[in-house]
Amino acid sequence: KKYVYLFREGKASMRDLLGGKGANLAEMTNIGLPVPPGFTITTEACNEYYTVGAQFPAGLWEQITPSLKDIEASTGKLFGDQKNPLLVSVRSGAKFSMPGMMDTILNLGLNDQTVQGLADSTQNERFAYDSYRRFIQMFGNVVLEIEHHLFERILDDAKSKQGVTYDSELSTASLKSVVEEYKKLIQKETGNPFPQEPMKQLEQAVLAVFRSWNNDRAIVYRKINSIPDDIGTAVNVQSMVFGNMGNDSGTGVAFTRSPSTGEKALYGEYLMNAQGEDVVAGIRTPQPIKSLEQENKAIYDQFVEISSRLEAHYRDMQDIEFTIEKGRLYFLQTRNGKRTAAAAIRVAVELCREGVISKEEAITRIEPGQLDQLLHRRMDTQAKLEVLAKGLPASPGAASGKIVFDADEAERLGKNGEKVILLRTETTPDDIHGILAAQGILTSRGGMTSHAAVVARHMGKPAVCGCEALKIDYAEHTVTIDGVVYTEGTVLSIDGATGRVIKGAVPMIDPELSEEFKQLLVWADEVRSLRVLANADNPKDAQKARDFGAQGIGLCRTEHMFMDPARIPIVQEMILSQNLEEREIALAKLLPMQEEDFYGILKAMAGLPVIIRLLDPPLHEFLPDVEDLVVEVTKLKLTGANPAELQEKEALLRKVRALDELNPMLGHRGCRLGVTFPEIYAMQARAIFQASARLVKEGFEIHPEVMIPLVIHVKELESLRKLTEDTAADVMQEQGVNFAYKVGTMIEVPRAALTADEIGKVADFFSFGTNDLTQTTLGFSRDDAEGKFLPAYLDQKILAQNPFAVLDRDGVGKLMKMAVQLGREANPDIELGICGEHGGEPSSIEFCHLLGLNYVSCSPFRVPLARLAAAQAKV
Ligand code: PEP
Ligand code: MG
Repeated sequence: KKYVYLFREGKASMRDLLGGKGANLAEMTNIGLPVPPGFTITTEACNEYYTVGAQFPAGLWEQITPSLKDIEASTGKLFGDQKNPLLVSVRSGAKFSMPGMMDTILNLGLNDQTVQGLADSTQNERFAYDSYRRFIQMFGNVVLEIEHHLFERILDDAKSKQGVTYDSELSTASLKSVVEEYKKLIQKETGNPFPQEPMKQLEQAVLAVFRSWNNDRAIVYRKINSIPDDIGTAVNVQSMVFGNMGNDSGTGVAFTRSPSTGEKALYGEYLMNAQGEDVVAGIRTPQPIKSLEQENKAIYDQFVEISSRLEAHYRDMQDIEFTIEKGRLYFLQTRNGKRTAAAAIRVAVELCREGVISKEEAITRIEPGQLDQLLHRRMDTQAKLEVLAKGLPASPGAASGKIVFDADEAERLGKNGEKVILLRTETTPDDIHGILAAQGILTSRGGMTSHAAVVARHMGKPAVCGCEALKIDYAEHTVTIDGVVYTEGTVLSIDGATGRVIKGAVPMIDPELSEEFKQLLVWADEVRSLRVLANADNPKDAQKARDFGAQGIGLCRTEHMFMDPARIPIVQEMILSQNLEEREIALAKLLPMQEEDFYGILKAMAGLPVIIRLLDPPLHEFLPDVEDLVVEVTKLKLTGANPAELQEKEALLRKVRALDELNPMLGHRGCRLGVTFPEIYAMQARAIFQASARLVKEGFEIHPEVMIPLVIHVKELESLRKLTEDTAADVMQEQGVNFAYKVGTMIEVPRAALTADEIGKVADFFSFGTNDLTQTTLGFSRDDAEGKFLPAYLDQKILAQNPFAVLDRDGVGKLMKMAVQLGREANPDIELGICGEHGGEPSSIEFCHLLGLNYVSCSPFRVPLARLAAAQAKV
């Protein structure tokens, strides 16, 4: 059986047999890279070792010796030779990377004689003895299993004896004595001398790697990462090369393109007459790779030539480790380089333009989640940060400002041009004006779909939510974090991309859409079949969405328009009316305001569909807080000063209490409002159609669509559809114009999905409201779950992901699938989409594509990401 493969005998596809590292070294060798020669002992040999009861497999050694000869021949060095010794590294390497499973053994082959050879060839006796003592320590620890601290103690003793602090300060004489002490330690601990015979060292090291496959760390690592136990590890034996053998030697790292901007140019650093460690340790300052050209043009040219060959072969930007030994260049490692989002885009687009990869491939090269980095102001990663606490990364971007504890104060300061962070336990629609005025939102409660999170993402405002370490005292206007009290006005920063809360102001970087970014999105548009719409409630957001490439509005939440401080009193008047007559009066005041809202949005989106949802949240969200009212009433009672006001407040309190519900999310909201107060929906429909009529007369092409929320029964939709159609007919008659419009519904409750065959008959479209559909399917409150018990569900792996962020395909997804099927059977022309937060999340977008939806709708700032993710789902 063939147990040993020289690097040149293997290839990339042999990962099962050679492990990941072995297959990669083989591939590099075979494409002509100057890789230090070596060989790989197969995973089969490892498995055989276990089969025969932890014994060196029969026939293995007979294959190792000729392979070693082969290395000797190509390096011109001899294993165990006193003058020019061959030294090797021995490393494990399973099919799947298992970092930290076993330490590497370097410099194997050193002994009391060969150390002299190393000293002579490097003309550096100190280096030779330092290498030797490191080798004995690694070998003693990894192979002979002697505890690390016993070696460290000897090293510490030597340092104090010589009166120095760092290892690097030890003299050659000290190192020599350390070597002697190490050898004594090994004799004492194992009862045998340190093996001087290189062949013996190699045999024991190979056995140690086999053994390491079943050490505790490796077993645990495999369990966590679902790696099978029976695939074994390969062993890589490779000749050592040294970058410190004089001024014609050196070592460095390089990228074939800039990892931060993607610019096509070699980037990297090197140091002559040094080892990799010296670069890392920062003892000497490395040179930029460009100056290698002056230092050694032949090597530099070779490096440039091979680098471009590498890119052509791997078809991606490479991250290369290299060493020069006595004027000879060696590549130790090459891999696809890590990069920023900006670099990822530029590299992918330029590789495509260079003809290296296709458009489709360029599209798949970018992680959609990374794009967030580019679409929001973000923290300067170079800045030093004092992180105070961590919450949920609810809305990307970063912000600094003075903390304030209520929305009115935020608005007041905001109007004066101050930068503020609105800090609340949670936010409600009442706080909209404060959110609008703030640079960022920070809450101590609530999850990824909490009010604060949803609204912030919509506005493209940074938010950190559910930061439970914050103890807010509204009465004192303070927040306590970790026992430290911060008063109102203290400057804090939040990083919505990571959930960090940071002390003081932090330097920010502005977003920019590069030419390459735009190009990539154009390619994505050519590929995708899902349309991408945006959730937007005002003309400004609608314009932003359009600029980012949205093909319409998928959700306009009309309640956000009710939140304007100028309108709240009228909205309250409407809610508190005692009878229809009174309510009609308030509605009549709201009508022209709503008409202006819809006029603005429809105009901004001329030519594209705009889906407007009728009022959805429970009415008490528009009213003052019960507790606040109780306090006011009590105060008025105690002072007895103003009986008229007291009476008024008490009446208000009664009404607010009457509207109060234990379970508002399951309460009087959605189309239930339309069922009980049809005049509210009629006013909204009229506003939509009057705005439409005006725009038609002005010559604009408009596509209004009316959406009824939270439907559970076809009869709700039938009657509300009729109300809408009657209103439309009235307006068209009054205005003397005609226009087309659609009426559809949201699917947000299991019953709606289960009866989609009925509902589909009267709906022009379904829009999956997966925020509520997740809440109602799982029975998890979307406002509380993430702050309370969801972390435990994730920790215990009951759920793999937060279902409010990533669509729960097995549960919620099954309902969607059923609704898609039933809906299309009932109405083959039905338009299907999603407008919950999942519509802007890559994996959920993929699922929507697989379901065959027509569109996804997400916040304006996520539109570019959704365009890309929709294309990736198709490729
Ligand atoms: C939803 O429930 O998914 C939805 C889009 O509506 P809202 O978030 O406004 O309840
Ligand atoms: Mg909803």
